[in-house]
Amino acid sequence: MSKIAHYLQEHLLGEVMTSPDARRFFATDASIFSLAPAMVVYPRSEGDVRKVARFTWQLAERGRAIPITARGNGTDQGGAALGNGIMLAFTAHMNRIVEFDNKSGQVIVEPGINYGKLQQTLETHSRFLPPFPASFEYSTIGGALGNNASGEKTVKYGDTRAYVKSLRVVLANGEVIETGRLSKRELNKKLGLATFEGEIYRSLDTLLEETDVSGTKLPVSKNSAGYALADIKHKDGSFDLTPLFVGSQSTLGIITEATLTTKPYNPETSLFVAGFDSVQQAQSAVLELKSMPELPSAIEMVDEHLLKAVAKLNPNQLKNVVDEPFPKIILLIELDDTTERVQKKNVKRVKKILQTYALGFQLETDPLKQAELWKIRHASATIFANASGRAKAVPIIEDGIVPIDKFGAYLEGVYEIFARNGLQVAVWGHAGDANLHLQPYLDLAEVGDRQKALRMMDEYYKLVMGLGGSTSGEHNDGRLRAPYLETLYGPELYAVFKKVKMIFDPYGTMNPGVKISVTLDDIKPLIRHEYSLAHLYQHMPRS
Ligand SMILES: Cc1cc2nc3c(=O)[nH]c(=O)nc-3n(C[C@H](O)[C@H](O)[C@H](O)COP(=O)(O)OP(=O)(O)OC[C@H]3O[C@@H](n4cnc5c(N)ncnc54)[C@H](O)[C@@H]3O)c2cc1C
Repeated sequence: MSKIAHYLQEHLLGEVMTSPDARRFFATDASIFSLAPAMVVYPRSEGDVRKVARFTWQLAERGRAIPITARGNGTDQGGAALGNGIMLAFTAHMNRIVEFDNKSGQVIVEPGINYGKLQQTLETHSRFLPPFPASFEYSTIGGALGNNASGEKTVKYGDTRAYVKSLRVVLANGEVIETGRLSKRELNKKLGLATFEGEIYRSLDTLLEETDVSGTKLPVSKNSAGYALADIKHKDGSFDLTPLFVGSQSTLGIITEATLTTKPYNPETSLFVAGFDSVQQAQSAVLELKSMPELPSAIEMVDEHLLKAVAKLNPNQLKNVVDEPFPKIILLIELDDTTERVQKKNVKRVKKILQTYALGFQLETDPLKQAELWKIRHASATIFANASGRAKAVPIIEDGIVPIDKFGAYLEGVYEIFARNGLQVAVWGHAGDANLHLQPYLDLAEVGDRQKALRMMDEYYKLVMGLGGSTSGEHNDGRLRAPYLETLYGPELYAVFKKVKMIFDPYGTMNPGVKISVTLDDIKPLIRHEYSLAHLYQHMPRS
């Protein structure tokens, strides 16, 4: 054990590990990268997190910067849950529901809580947290906060940011702050503080006064790229750091507690499955569905290439659920309106839209039959879980989001990229948000395939940006998409992001190498040669 690990073990309630096994385990997440931490700390309390931060701050003041990375379950697909310094593993101890208010539906949790466990608990109280990612059964709330995660229900309910009322955050120097919406008077009090917190409020307030940050709002329905600067300061003078920390991937501070709002949960839904013979017809249907007065709670898609690939990899998986010949696009449209009358009215509306654009459709209200149909969408997991041979489905070009009316152009563009690179395509995702996921089969041990990966990344992110979209709808920048952030927002806004990072993290100890100041040359050496999701197989990954 290093001197530092010994020192920390003496002062922390939680454990410190430097064994090669532990370091190897935390050297990968669900991304294509690998980076081993120097040590792993399992904090037992906020006090432990404070001590680690204060310690690294003091070392950094003397010229030695040791990175800190917060980690949930390491399902991040962009390499944001990796770092070469101290890994704070929250799942071991800081994983509790602190308080649940049945009346308001508000819940206070620690970051390491498993998202699925929290959801189960909420559902027993007829509530739920709507922006859950597809990975919710095996990921944490801390990770969802870090990434501003979202999922199939986001089309109606919004992203994680919309459900966070306040946070407790350990700052880079070990100070703890509580965020929340501050009135002008409350902000003035903060501005007068002689602490690091006061310094942050002063610098950020001045920066936001002097800079137009409205450009950080892109014309997409959700966005996890960059920092959410336009959500901090409001016209009425109120100020809130909460939306900034959500989606900041532990580059600005470490979340130790979150107060979340929830929604009423209605398991009685209507589910449509509709087939389309062209991308254009599917796009027209999506546009009309999106203009309904009460939005569907999900508008999800898979394409025929995905279904063909699944039929080949696992022929019985979708037997009797969907038959060949497959339509070009399948949409799954769910209605969860709590009032029966409203849901019935919306069922009629959806039927009318589908009668105009779809080849055919099926409506199901029985939960067991619905579960069968959802298999169509969840079959996407087969793409990365059932790969045989050395080539694996790699998460390098995925998660781009475009304005909804560009959905068709996005899909066609993706098909062209795969054709140009001689690879088979399979697409799935959140059609209602024009947020697609796709993973090419590549063998990252081969130089040629690594070069192809980088080329496809360039082509893909250019396509998304060219259509006025964002490089990340939900998975965030991490290391993978960070090199594209400056092109996405332009040099002026990017310079503001850098200033923000500097305000919160002057010594660069908070998850460096993620989001800000990252080039393609920085990430190339981190690409692992044997991509796998091995550490997630305690659960069947879903996408
Ligand atoms: C198959 C598959 C499907 C996926 N589907 C989706 C999806 O539908 N939608 C979606 O949004 N994402 C999806 N993801 C990506 C990822 O699973 C989610 O974003 C998830 O919320 C991350 O949770 P985690 O616990 O694994 O976090 P980690 O991977 O451990 O961390 C993610 C980020 O959060 C930060 N973080 C963790 N804890 C804290 C903390 N206490 N304070 C500050 N920052 C913290 C980390 O530093 C890191 O930057 C998917 C991933 C896989 C592998």
